[in-house]
Amino acid sequence: MNAPLKAPRRLESYVLGQWTPGAKDGQTILDAGTGQPVATIDSSGIDFAEVLNYGRSVAGPALRKLSFHDRAGMLKALGLKLMEQKEEFYAESFRTGATRPDGWVDIEGGIGTMLTFASKGRRELPNTRVLTEGPVEGLSRDNSFSAQHILTPLQGVAIHINAYNFPIWGMLEKIAPTLLAGVPCIVKPASQTAYLTELMVKRIIETGILPEGALQLISGSVGDMLSHVEGQDVVTFTGSATTGRKLKTLPAIVNNSVRFNMEADSLNASILGADAVPGTPEFELFVKEVAREMTAKAGQKCTAIRRVIAPRALTEALIAALGERLAKTAVGLPDAEGTRMGALASYDQRDEVRARIKDLQADAEIVAGDPDDVRLTSGDAQSGAFMNPVLLYCDKPFAAGAVHEVEAFGPVSTVMPYDSLEEAVELANKGKGSLAASVFTNDAHVAEEVVLGIAPYHGRVLIGNRVSAKTSTGHGSPLAGLVHGGPGRAGGGEEMGGIRGVTHYMQRTAVQGAPNMLSAVTGRWVEGADGHQGTHPFRKSLAELRIGDQLVTASRVVTKEDVEHFAEFTGDTFYAHMDSAAAKANPFFDDRVAHGYLIASFAAGLFVEPNPGPVLANYGVDNLRFLTPVYFGDSLQVRLTCKEINPRANADHGEVRWDCQVTNQKGEVVAQYDVLTMVAKEWPAKG
Ligand code: NDP
Repeated sequence: MNAPLKAPRRLESYVLGQWTPGAKDGQTILDAGTGQPVATIDSSGIDFAEVLNYGRSVAGPALRKLSFHDRAGMLKALGLKLMEQKEEFYAESFRTGATRPDGWVDIEGGIGTMLTFASKGRRELPNTRVLTEGPVEGLSRDNSFSAQHILTPLQGVAIHINAYNFPIWGMLEKIAPTLLAGVPCIVKPASQTAYLTELMVKRIIETGILPEGALQLISGSVGDMLSHVEGQDVVTFTGSATTGRKLKTLPAIVNNSVRFNMEADSLNASILGADAVPGTPEFELFVKEVAREMTAKAGQKCTAIRRVIAPRALTEALIAALGERLAKTAVGLPDAEGTRMGALASYDQRDEVRARIKDLQADAEIVAGDPDDVRLTSGDAQSGAFMNPVLLYCDKPFAAGAVHEVEAFGPVSTVMPYDSLEEAVELANKGKGSLAASVFTNDAHVAEEVVLGIAPYHGRVLIGNRVSAKTSTGHGSPLAGLVHGGPGRAGGGEEMGGIRGVTHYMQRTAVQGAPNMLSAVTGRWVEGADGHQGTHPFRKSLAELRIGDQLVTASRVVTKEDVEHFAEFTGDTFYAHMDSAAAKANPFFDDRVAHGYLIASFAAGLFVEPNPGPVLANYGVDNLRFLTPVYFGDSLQVRLTCKEINPRANADHGEVRWDCQVTNQKGEVVAQYDVLTMVAKEWPAKG
């Protein structure tokens, strides 16, 4: 049972560096399962323009002083601290109607997402404050004028307006990429479940890990905040399409071209392949997945399967199997033993779902469950916002409107038949853009036709079959590394997607100028910039090494004997190296040529400094290209330049990227690549 409540908690906002109660008593929020008051919420009296300014002026500069690795380290420390306190969040989460597995997605899924961003930040971003994107564009023949795209943090704040269904994940999946980008956040949770978000923000602020002002919280309405947003701010919204559209067209947002990311209603579909007949693993998996999507979080998931698209011949068996499974779903108090599905978030929400089922009945008949007859294994139907799962069947989905238009945001799905694969694709796309779709098939042709047909209408598509049955993360789970968002009706937005999600809070700028200037701006050596020769750069630790430190080697002639020795030694006797007539018949060569890997190996032999020193290891090459054939008698020379230095925060070494250019006796570039090494911070190592 939920812990007994003393008095409803008065939720506070965290703004301008302090916890601030609203000026009025505010709205009372009820426990979804028991109907007891949990909290009151109100944000009146707050100066919202000041809140924006505080984030921009206090936290923005502090965050921008840190490197990506510093910010990633901050997120990691925060994620680990929050994970230690997870039981406190679970206890509060029950009040939202969520069972423990539902809470796991929200709480540990949310913290896990933050930790994934922390790890990606350290592994995939440089230890700098500016990102470069794409290659340097040479804009002049003599290398005196080039361009580079860079990304820098926006200097405003990000306002995250969240939905009631994921009070923790909804906040963390957005603030993690925002903070990693270097932008302060203002979080506005949906009132209905704001007490759980408020609790977590309390714990976040207590850690003292974030710079002051990097995270502010509004418990209650955002008042006139959105009329004060400026061009450097970002607004993200998750919720109903109606509210989303209203906010997206507010004058300050339109007039200042404020980035607005919207994630709204979505009539996600799942398709059963014609090969997946009863008795196949795919049929079983499909039934399990649809039932799980309908009942997890009581169907209040933006990615839940609302439309079940099945071959006409299989619909009867499918409805029977789903009906049987859904009937076994134990509905009751979220923390009671044996409960499989908890309550909806509020009575209003349950009434709303019942009303939407009535809309769906214009096109479809109920084939399992009764929206008005609540059967519980624990709890009281009069006090909690409970309902049992409801399955509908729409026999003529092409003539129907409501089943493709109306989102019943609860444990509700509609089965609809198709007669050909083209029809299945067309039906899925009738959702006019969704967050996620899935297809269950073991037929590669079905997978190809469906995915290519529906991809333009979907942000994510999952293919389910027997091979991935045990490892699949499922239809409904957004993942930190994958894009979350969908076109059209789903809002047209995009979140997460790994480091892509970080760049949503940064400005892309094309910077043009002389290579030395571009190097200074980006902290990366650029072709055409000065090189500094002297001590062999492999003799320098990170304490001494500088961008642009360069080695130009002696030359080495490549002979026929070298090539034949290499061929015999490695077993690579490809004809272009061994057979003059065959090589001459090849459109790219005039005669036998040296192996590309021989060129790279000779290059290493030319540039390496053999003695023990600060260079600890070579861990690979990037972008290796062989650009000009090397014939017997040609001579090779290497220019090796220190291009990028990334010291690791928690180690006594860092990564160094070297530009490696191999030329022949005519000065033509034979091979070009980046050599990747680990280099000690100090040499000889201390201690
Ligand atoms: P709303 O669109 O009403 O609310 C979403 C968020 O917007 C809440 O934080 C809400 O705050 C806030 N909000 C509402 N009005 C304003 C405003 N004028 N200015 C600023 N913020 C505002 O959606 P609900 O949460 O009530 O859910 C309604 C429906 O939305 C669901 O039934 C479902 O169909 C859909 N939905 C879709 C989701 C998705 O991810 N695709 C997720 C959740 C819901 P407050 O709570 O304080 O009003």
